[in-house]
Amino acid sequence: MMLESNAVDGHETIIGLEIHVQLKTRSKMFCGCAVEFGAPPNTLVCPVCLGLPGALPVVNRRAVELAVFAALALNCQVHSRSVFARKNYFYPDLPKGYQISQFDRPLTTSGWLDVPADAASTPRRVRVRRIHVEEDSGKSLHDRFAGLTAVDLNRAGVPLVEIVTEPDLRSPAQARAWLVRLKQTLEYLEVSDCNMEEGSLRVDANVSVRPPGVTALPTKTEVKNLNSFSQLERALEYEASRHLAILRAGGSVAHQTMLWDPARNESRPMRGKEELHDYRYFPEPDLLDLVVTEETVGQLQRQLPELPWQKQERFEKEYDLTPYDAGVLSASRQLADYYEALARISGAPRSAANWMMREALSVANELGVSVGEGFVDPARLAELMELVAAGRLSHNLGAEVLRSMVETGKAAAQVVAERGLEKIKAGSQLDQWVEEALSENPAEVERFRGGEEKLLAFFIGQVMRKSKGRADAKQLRERLLMMLKPERTDTGS
Ligand code: ADP
Ligand code: ZN
Ligand code: MG
Repeated sequence: MMLESNAVDGHETIIGLEIHVQLKTRSKMFCGCAVEFGAPPNTLVCPVCLGLPGALPVVNRRAVELAVFAALALNCQVHSRSVFARKNYFYPDLPKGYQISQFDRPLTTSGWLDVPADAASTPRRVRVRRIHVEEDSGKSLHDRFAGLTAVDLNRAGVPLVEIVTEPDLRSPAQARAWLVRLKQTLEYLEVSDCNMEEGSLRVDANVSVRPPGVTALPTKTEVKNLNSFSQLERALEYEASRHLAILRAGGSVAHQTMLWDPARNESRPMRGKEELHDYRYFPEPDLLDLVVTEETVGQLQRQLPELPWQKQERFEKEYDLTPYDAGVLSASRQLADYYEALARISGAPRSAANWMMREALSVANELGVSVGEGFVDPARLAELMELVAAGRLSHNLGAEVLRSMVETGKAAAQVVAERGLEKIKAGSQLDQWVEEALSENPAEVERFRGGEEKLLAFFIGQVMRKSKGRADAKQLRERLLMMLKPERTDTGS
C-alpha cells in the first residue's frame, strides 16, 4: 500500500490544485467561432483564433458571466476591474505565439469551497486563491499521420477559467473528494459540462511532504496529465510516497514538473526543455481592462441556483432523509429534481427516497441510462409505488417491474397484469405451495420442530421461489408458522 493519508511517521502531505475548466458558451472567448467538441479538425476557426495579422479580439460577455457565476459559488471576491495579459510561449497548437490570460490582476480572488463532511477529513475548508479567465490552446494530434504531428485549432480560443487553490489539502483522498465537490458545483451552475474524458475539466496537482514539526512549505512537484479522479488520487499517492522516500533517505526533493503515466502507474519528470518557463507576461494591448459592474455581480448572485450542499441539507430537513441518502439524491440537479417530483406526486418522501436508492438507481445503472433521461416519468414510478403500498404487488418484485417499465414504456399496472405478478394472498394457492415446501423438506421440518426456528427463512425462501416472488410475505409467514407448529393456534409471536 502506498501513502494513503497524512499519517506516515507524522509526515504531512500537502496538496494544491490548479484546474482548467472549459466554459459552456456557444462561441469562443475572443471571436464568434462556435465551440463544439468533435467537429472535423480546423473547421471552427477564423482570423482571430488563427492569430492572423490585424485580427482583433472581442471579449465574450457570456464567458465572463459564467466565470463570475462560478466565482460567487466558490465565495470569491469579484474585482470590478481586471486585466488581460499575454502569456508568451512557442508551441505548434498556439498560433498567436501567446495565450490571452490574466496574470497579476485576475477577475476574482480569495474564495473557498469545503470538502464534503462525509469525506471525514480535516481541515475541510480549502481556500481558492484565484479564478481567472483565459483562452484554450489548440490540440496537437500525434496519432493521425505516422511520423507527423497534426494540429487541430478548433479548440484554440475556447473560453476557460483557471481555478487555483491554496495548498490546503492534506491527503490524496481528500484532494479527490474536493475535486468531486468542485465538479459537482460547476455542473450545478451549468457553467461547464466538466467532461474529464473530453478535456473540459483538467487538473494539475501540486504536492509536497512535510516532516513533523515543520511549518514552512517544502519543495513541491507538479503532476500533469491527470484525466480522472482515480488518476489524480493514484498520482498523488505515488508522488507523496516518492517524496517521503527521498526525505527519509536524507535527500531533498527536486522542484520539477512530472507527467503521470497511467499505463505504468508512475510519474516521471518532464524533459527539462518543456519545463523552461519564461512567459514574459505583459498586459494585452488589444483589450481594455475588463470591467464588471456591481450591478452585474448582483444580478448573477440572484441567479445562483441552490448549491449541492444546500440541497442536501434541505432534503435532510424537509424530507427527513439521512445525510447519506440526501447526499446521493442531490448528487446532480437532474437526480434531485426527479426525486423531488416523485416525493411530491407520491406524497411519501421517505418511501420515494427508498425507491430511488434501491430500485430506481440500480435499474437505471443496469440498463445504462440515467434517472431523468431515458427513464420512466416520476408519475409512472409513483404508480408503481402505489401498487406496492396498496398490497397488490410485493415489494421484492418492484425492481423487476420497474426494469420492464423502462424497457417497454408500459405502465406498472399493465406490466403486473400482463406478466401475472399480482401478489398472491392467503388462499388455496398459497396453502398448496406451503404444503409442497413442507413435504419436500421433511428433514428441515423435523429440525424446525426440534427448535431450529431460524429455518423459517428457509421455508419462506422455498415458497417464494415457487411463487416467483409473488407470495404475500406477511401472510406466508403466518401460514408457515401455523403449519409448522400445528399444535399452536396463536400465530402471533
Ligand atoms: P509556483 O510559483 O510554483 O507556480 P504557486 O505558489 O504559484 O507555485 O502555487 C501553484 C500551486 O501549487 C497552487 O495550487 C498552490 O496551492 C500549490 N502549492 C504551492 N506550494 C505548495 C507546496 N509546498 N505543496 C503543495 N502544493 C503547493
Ligand atoms: Zn475564431
Ligand atoms: Mg504559480
